[in-house]
Amino acid sequence: AMRHLPYFCRGEVVKGFGRGSKELGIPTANFSEQVVESFPSDISTGIYYGWACVGNGDVHKMVLSIGWNPFYRNTKKSVETHIIHTFKEDFYGEILSIVIVGYIRPEKNFDSLEALISAIQEDIEEAKRQLDLPEHLKLKEDNFFHLAEGKIVNNH
Ligand code: ADP
Ligand code: MG
Repeated sequence: AMRHLPYFCRGEVVKGFGRGSKELGIPTANFSEQVVESFPSDISTGIYYGWACVGNGDVHKMVLSIGWNPFYRNTKKSVETHIIHTFKEDFYGEILSIVIVGYIRPEKNFDSLEALISAIQEDIEEAKRQLDLPEHLKLKEDNFFHLAEGKIVNNH
């Protein structure tokens, strides 16, 4: 699962399948099918942690799921990022930049909504701990996250 990491990726945030992530308090920003297709085809499904930034905004911790997309009858993957930050507004259509840093666990089925939510909360705690390690913290400062900023300045 770690072979492709760290993995840098940038793309537009699109409407997802509407599985009610937001209602659970864990909204997930979905990448377009095109961005998902650009991922290594052999990347493992499951839960990952890393860093994320919306537009030219601050870099935040995130958890990410790579899973099978029910919209395409589970023939295509979906890549969804939950940013560990409270945003004032939705950011559909904005550019999300992420670096996937590490793997937490494979996809699982849960017996109840409570079990699902508590697993996700554990994933978030694990992500926070891992990302505080010096070797992972340094990726937060990676030039990748300042590239978009530079582009806009140069286009003026
Ligand atoms: P969808 O099915 O359209 O992906 P979600 O319930 O998963 O709907 O909500 C995702 C949307 O919520 C994102 O596209 C983004 O605009 C917004 N959002 C607000 N806060 C966050 C956050 N902390 N992490 C991810 N997305 C967020
Ligand atoms: Mg979503």
